[in-house]
Amino acid sequence: DSKKRIGLLGATGSIGTSCLEVVRAHSESMSIDLLSAHSSWRELARSAAEFLPQTVVLTGVQASDVAANAFPSSVEVLYGEEALLKAVEVPEIETVITGIVGAAGLRGTLAAVEAGKRIGLANKETLVVAGSLVTQKAVETGSVLIPVDSEHSAIFQALACGKREDVSKLILTASGGPFRSWSAEKIAQATVANALDHPTWDMGPKITIDSATMMNKALEVIEARWLFGINARQIEVVVHPQSIVHSMVEFVDGSVMAQLSPPDMKLPIQYAITWPDRIAGTSPKLDISQTFSLDFEPPDLERFPALALGFEVADQGGTAGVVLNAANEVAVDRFLQDQLTFPEIPRLCRSILASHQFESNPTLDELLTLDGWARQEALRWTSSTSH
Ligand code: NDP
Ligand code: MG
Repeated sequence: DSKKRIGLLGATGSIGTSCLEVVRAHSESMSIDLLSAHSSWRELARSAAEFLPQTVVLTGVQASDVAANAFPSSVEVLYGEEALLKAVEVPEIETVITGIVGAAGLRGTLAAVEAGKRIGLANKETLVVAGSLVTQKAVETGSVLIPVDSEHSAIFQALACGKREDVSKLILTASGGPFRSWSAEKIAQATVANALDHPTWDMGPKITIDSATMMNKALEVIEARWLFGINARQIEVVVHPQSIVHSMVEFVDGSVMAQLSPPDMKLPIQYAITWPDRIAGTSPKLDISQTFSLDFEPPDLERFPALALGFEVADQGGTAGVVLNAANEVAVDRFLQDQLTFPEIPRLCRSILASHQFESNPTLDELLTLDGWARQEALRWTSSTSH
């Protein structure tokens, strides 16, 4: 049949759930071949019963942790990351949506790239950690990386309005997060609950904290640098609290192309699946019959020091991304456990970055080793009192 056949990694998360909504609304033209989760097996089993994939993979639990007959008998149930890497390769799967959070998503994404799949890339950490290797590999295998991150999806769409060599600037919009209008003093006292209270987007906990520090925008600058093969100096960030203009491209003649839609991830997920076609969807549409306004303001690097790190790391390339990402994952985790204050998140990241041995052309193995090193250093930083 002519259905778009999808492998969905991280099916139980925020992106995963939105992707399943898209497929549910288009069951005549899309179907699921593979679902993965880490440990949420009950939720995965519910989705498996509804979408009847060939295969499901649980990477964070064993068969003995899961109730017998939890999954429909037609579904093959596999365990562990190695099984996931094999499962994404099967020829039936056309598009792999990468909704795993963190550097844990790297190997699955890379396996799908190596198999030449179309990638609906939500897992931005993959490009932050190994952007050079992954984009090179995609060129070799013919794998197309279609961004799911709303800003990059907007840029991907706006780029279609001109030639690559005529692009002068990529302009990423940022909501500014829950602390956009808070003073530095108030931000220093921010609690976990404050940081999890995002004004415009409903997302998983890690990216929600990243939005509060603006580390998310830092990671997105790095993501854009690799995804679009552009110099970091041609990337700008503008704060846009309504999250309706998802990003913009400026061309050499001064013309700026933007993509607008209400903040909802179903649209970029659906577009990654249907590109280059567009189909009617279930995401809300902009209501321009009502009065509304769009505001833009420059980002404040003093109150959001994480953002500056993004530009520095995007410019350096090499091993800087893996170290920043690993340090940030540990910092976010510690903050969520109340083991770190909010302003310590970017401070920790800068400190680990500064202490690492920079290399400009690391191999995958070297990157994975550095990932482990940076996590250890970050943990040591959080348990020492001298900062
Ligand atoms: P969630 O925390 O909501 O979901 C994470 C998913 O990954 C879950 O299915 C989880 O399984 C699985 N997972 C967690 N840890 C591992 C691991 N070690 N190995 C394998 N699978 C794992 O995250 P989000 O959906 O918010 O984010 C997913 C990715 O998409 C991130 O990279 C994020 O930056 C990006 N993104 C998200 C957006 C959003 O709107 N949420 C917007 C733009 C980008 P389990 O439930 O079993 O733990
Ligand atoms: Mg984004």
